Amino acid sequence: MPDAPAAPVRCDLRSDTVTRPDAAMRRAMAAAEVGDDVYGEDPEVNRLESELAAMLGKEAGLFLPSGTQSNLVAILTHCGRGDEAMVGAGYHVFRDEAAGAAVLGGVALLPLPLSDSGGVSARVIAAALRPDDVHYPVSRLLCLENTVGGRAVPLAETRAAAEAARRAGLSVHLDGARFFNAVTALGCGPADLAGVADTVSVCLSKGLGAPVGTVLVGPAALMARARRQRKILGGGMRQAGILAAAGRHALACNRAGLAGDHARAAELAGALSDLGAGAVSHATNMVFFTPDGGETAALRRALSAKGVLIGGQPRRIRMVLHRDVEDSALAAAIEAFRGFYGG
Ligand SMILES: *Cc1c(COP(=O)(O)O)cnc(C)c1O
Repeated sequence: MPDAPAAPVRCDLRSDTVTRPDAAMRRAMAAAEVGDDVYGEDPEVNRLESELAAMLGKEAGLFLPSGTQSNLVAILTHCGRGDEAMVGAGYHVFRDEAAGAAVLGGVALLPLPLSDSGGVSARVIAAALRPDDVHYPVSRLLCLENTVGGRAVPLAETRAAAEAARRAGLSVHLDGARFFNAVTALGCGPADLAGVADTVSVCLSKGLGAPVGTVLVGPAALMARARRQRKILGGGMRQAGILAAAGRHALACNRAGLAGDHARAAELAGALSDLGAGAVSHATNMVFFTPDGGETAALRRALSAKGVLIGGQPRRIRMVLHRDVEDSALAAAIEAFRGFYGG
C-alpha cells in the first residue's frame, strides 16, 4: 500500500484518475434519467453511447466500467482462442492488464518494439505477421495506443501502422484511454484519429474527470457482439445512467480544459528543468523527472510532507496534470520542489 500522505493534500499529481466530480457534474448525475441498461433501457447510457460513437465517426458505442474491461472486451470480440494480437511492448494492454486476453480469451499477445514517438512502425508490423503455418497462432488484431506515456503519436504514423495491419487482413483496436488528450495535442478532429481503427476505447475517468466509465465504439455488428462479451465479464450494469450522465457532462464541459492541463505540464517541466537536478521530459498532460542523484524516495517523502503527491517508478517520477490541479496547486508543487532542491 502507498504511504498515507503526511499532510493535507494540496496537489495530487499521481494520476489524472484522482479527479473528483465537481458540483455541476454531481447535479447532472442526480438529474439523470435512468432505466435498466442490461435491457437496453437506460436513456442516459444510450445517449452517451450514440453521442460518442457519432463524435468519433463510428456506428455504435458500449459503456463499460473501466478501460481495462473495454480493451479486453474489444480483444475478445476481435479474436478467438489461438489468435494473436500484436501490441506495443510498453502499452497498457500488454503491460498493465494482467494478461487478461490470454487468461480469459486464449489470445496470445505479441509485444512489438515502439518507435521513438511511441507508435509501432509499419515495418515492424509487417515483419511480425505470421505465415499460414500450423506452428503459429493466427495474426488477427493490432492494438494501438494514443496517447502513449503522455505522447501523442502522430496521426500519419498511426495511420500507416493501421494500414499495414489492414492490408494483411488484421483488425485494428485503438486504446484511447486519453483519446481527447491525443486529439487536443494533434490538433485533429476526433473522427480523424478514430478513423484509423475499427474499434476505439475512450476513458471518461481520466483527464475528462468522470468518476467511472469507458466507452468502446465501432461498427454496430461488432458492438452487438461486444455487448455479449461485456455481460460475460460481469460488466453489465443496471441504472448506469447516473454514471453515464457524468460521462456526458465530462464530454460536453471538460474537453476544452485539456489544453490547459497540457500548458500546466509544460510549465511544471520548465520549472523542474530550471532546477538542473535531473532529466525532465513532458508531453500532453504528463511530466517525467529522473533525478540525477537517484533521490526519488526522499523527494517523494519531502513533497508528501508538503501535501504534494507524485507518482511513477522507483527511478523515474511521473506527474500528471488534470482538472483538479489549479494554478495555485501547481504553484504549491513547484514551491515544494524548489524547497527540496534549495532552488
Ligand atoms: C488507464 C488506462 C487504461 C485503463 O484503465 P482503467 O483503470 O482500467 O480504467 C487503459 N489504457 C491506458 C493507456 C491507460 O492509461
